[in-house]
Amino acid sequence: MKRFLGPLLASAALALALPAHAELDVPALKSAIETSVESNYDHLDTLYKDIHAHPEIAFQEVKTAAKLAAEMRALGFEVTEHVGITGVVAIYKNGNGPTVMVRTELDALPMEEKTGLPYASHDKTIWNGRETPVAHSCGHDIHMASWVGTAKMLVGMKDKWQGTLMFIAQPAEEIVSGARAMLADGLFTRFPKPDVGLALHDRPGAYGTLAYRVGVGSSAADGLTVKFRGRGGHGAEPQATIDPVMMAARFIVDVQSVISREKDPTEFAVVSIGSIHAGTVGNIIPDEAVLYGTIRTFKPDVRAKVHDGIQRTAKAVAAMAGAPAPEVEIAEGAKAVMNDPGVVAIVEKVLKAAYGDKIRQTPPVTPSEDYSEFIAAGVPSMFFNIGVYEPERVRASQEGGPALPPNHSPQFAPMPKPTIATGVTAMTLAVLSVFDQRARGQ
Ligand SMILES: [Zn+2]
Ligand SMILES: [Zn+2]
Repeated sequence: MKRFLGPLLASAALALALPAHAELDVPALKSAIETSVESNYDHLDTLYKDIHAHPEIAFQEVKTAAKLAAEMRALGFEVTEHVGITGVVAIYKNGNGPTVMVRTELDALPMEEKTGLPYASHDKTIWNGRETPVAHSCGHDIHMASWVGTAKMLVGMKDKWQGTLMFIAQPAEEIVSGARAMLADGLFTRFPKPDVGLALHDRPGAYGTLAYRVGVGSSAADGLTVKFRGRGGHGAEPQATIDPVMMAARFIVDVQSVISREKDPTEFAVVSIGSIHAGTVGNIIPDEAVLYGTIRTFKPDVRAKVHDGIQRTAKAVAAMAGAPAPEVEIAEGAKAVMNDPGVVAIVEKVLKAAYGDKIRQTPPVTPSEDYSEFIAAGVPSMFFNIGVYEPERVRASQEGGPALPPNHSPQFAPMPKPTIATGVTAMTLAVLSVFDQRARGQ
């Protein structure tokens, strides 16, 4: 692996852009950071493509975590591994000042990559007892490369800021469990509790563009399992059975009336049943049917109403069939990510100065994100998004051309260089904006 050496030219430019305790000269700073990323990019490219080609899923990210740990040690961070099973905590102390946390995820998805890229993943693993292909189809590899690049950039500029960097690499985001695992393993007791937290996620927009939200940014996600118990028998003699497949079918349809009739139509909620398990062959009525679904909401009162409606619908469907009460399990997953208005105010000022009309505020998105656990643990944060595709392709798709593959698509294929460059630049500026604001006592 190549060494990651900062060019002297770029650090000289950074010195010009960061006069002590004065307003940040954002455009100069941005271009200096971009120049530095450009000259260091080969290393990040190699790292990105290596991680992309060898993805690991939730709590299996052993090699990925080791790669990041090695990168951070080489930069002079104090690194602790196996925090929350496979998580990494990297601390860099640089005088008195706030502790700023920057988080990346480590995990990939149990799915096949179909991008045809030269660095596409062909790896497989065992997941829930079955062999599955693995792919970085959510772009967490982009986040990791940006995370390492940001760390390198900030260390190279350490005479320009004071405080503590807390870079964390979190496992198992896709099963919304890794943040909780790190917290349970003492993330904010064994290590400093950050004053501010920052994280980014890629999205199928144009590279070089950013999006963020104030307040609610992503949905709360709860897992749903419903088990209907009936009485099995011959498919030709339904009168002697209580048909759980019928109950499952009725429930799947009726539960949508909780969404359409019970909650306020102007509020967001989704219930999706993604998996149904019942029976073996066509002429046997099985004795049970199990459904697995997901519940997404933004607001706690809407969430409570939807949970209640699901419980009542499942019970009513069973009662209608003369079956015993069903088992309904709602597993609390991620909470909604809430960006802190104070942190957003500091960071958006700098990002707007850097990106102009390429950064915009967007409505909340419906997928979930367990970064919310760090916010719930008391870290005021800003979570923002960066685009990954060529601007021309994005424009064409908006004008009715071919749709661009979103995150979790087997064709999801970010353009590495401009995306990672934006990730490093925007995150470095975000971290500096927090240090700068504290240094100037605002
Ligand atoms: Zn994802
Ligand atoms: Zn993701």
